[in-house]
Amino acid sequence: MIRGMDDIDVAIVGLGLAGSAAARAVSRRGRSVAAFEAYGPGHRRGSSHGRARIFRRAYLDPLYVELTGRAGRLWEELGEQAGERLLTRTGGVDHGRGREPERMARLLRDHGVAAELLDPAEAARRWPGIRFTGPVVLDPEGGVVDPEAAIAALVRLAAEDGAHIAYDTPVRTMEPDSTGVRLRTDEGTWHARTVVVAAGGWTGPLLDGLVPLPPLTVTRQQVFFFAPEDAGPWPTVVHGETSLDLYALPEGPYVKLGEHAPGPVTTAADRDFTVDPAARERAMAYARTWLPGLDPVPRSELTCLYTWTPDEDFVIDRRGPFVVCSPCSGHGAKFTPLLGELAADLVDGRPPIDRFALR
Ligand SMILES: Cc1cc2nc3c(=O)[nH]c(=O)nc-3n(C[C@H](O)[C@H](O)[C@H](O)COP(=O)(O)OP(=O)(O)OC[C@H]3O[C@@H](n4cnc5c(N)ncnc54)[C@H](O)[C@@H]3O)c2cc1C
Repeated sequence: MIRGMDDIDVAIVGLGLAGSAAARAVSRRGRSVAAFEAYGPGHRRGSSHGRARIFRRAYLDPLYVELTGRAGRLWEELGEQAGERLLTRTGGVDHGRGREPERMARLLRDHGVAAELLDPAEAARRWPGIRFTGPVVLDPEGGVVDPEAAIAALVRLAAEDGAHIAYDTPVRTMEPDSTGVRLRTDEGTWHARTVVVAAGGWTGPLLDGLVPLPPLTVTRQQVFFFAPEDAGPWPTVVHGETSLDLYALPEGPYVKLGEHAPGPVTTAADRDFTVDPAARERAMAYARTWLPGLDPVPRSELTCLYTWTPDEDFVIDRRGPFVVCSPCSGHGAKFTPLLGELAADLVDGRPPIDRFALR
């Protein structure tokens, strides 16, 4: 372990999905990198734990359809470099209120995705464990990415390119000076010309007084794991139900179900890990009605943090020596390898994607 005052090109703060991807991309471009993570690998206090997140091309916004295309190609490349499959293409279906299957299918086809528009009877024939009442769009490129495996692979590849990786090492303070930033950790003081802050729900407090940010709201989200009564197949599902927006996806032997809506507001420092009984009841009622292929009693449950921006766009931009990489609002995981490239572009002095820019 290197100790003491070390002068490096780039420090990365946080080794969730965003910071791991940044550590990999920046060190691959030949910079000296030290990456700091406050907790151990696989910890459950942030946003990136567990073995499954939805990957999808299906957005109703052309910017994200395009970015998911770039991200998909980078996931395949990362899987080849890591020697393991990190993205499994199960197909993804969207249906219900606000999903606009006809428009979604048109938009996807305009971007080269072979989307299918299905009537509810055909969709029910393909996925008997799911109930459909209206048109359904199938995104054949959709699937599931494995966050814990991805982080392990990204960190391993970054270390192979020379990055110093420090787990259980919170960055205590960051002080800008004329040539970069001085970072204090319990293993010593470091100096970096640029710092990539990929601190998820901790980003606001960490950058307070250093970089003006848009309002970031941290919420405690809860997900429930149900056992399928038959083997499936299970695609990923996004459903605008009468009053709820829900998503479901296969994770190991289970189907994970969650609501895409803000849970209780909290902070990363003060959050607790309790599951709201009313949310559990809603998940069970939903499973009973809409996912008849599942046993409607959850086998397990867990909590996770969302960091929301007002418009659900990411914040990925640079101010002085600080690159801010805050890709959440509940949909950042699918972009992971692309997030690393965007952070590395900012380190290299390239401009941000306009929609992700600090105002
Ligand atoms: C329940 C749930 C379901 C989701 N489903 C999907 C999905 O299906 N598809 C999708 O695309 N996205 C999904 N997301 C969103 C996605 O998981 C997040 O966008 C992504 O995990 C954000 O990663 P991150 O690296 O920004 O944050 P985090 O994973 O929270 O990482 C930040 C890290 O910074 C560390 N840190 C903080 N402060 C310091 C410090 N001072 N020093 C050192 N380290 C520090 C923290 O310990 C943490 O490990 C979901 C999120 C949740 C919570």
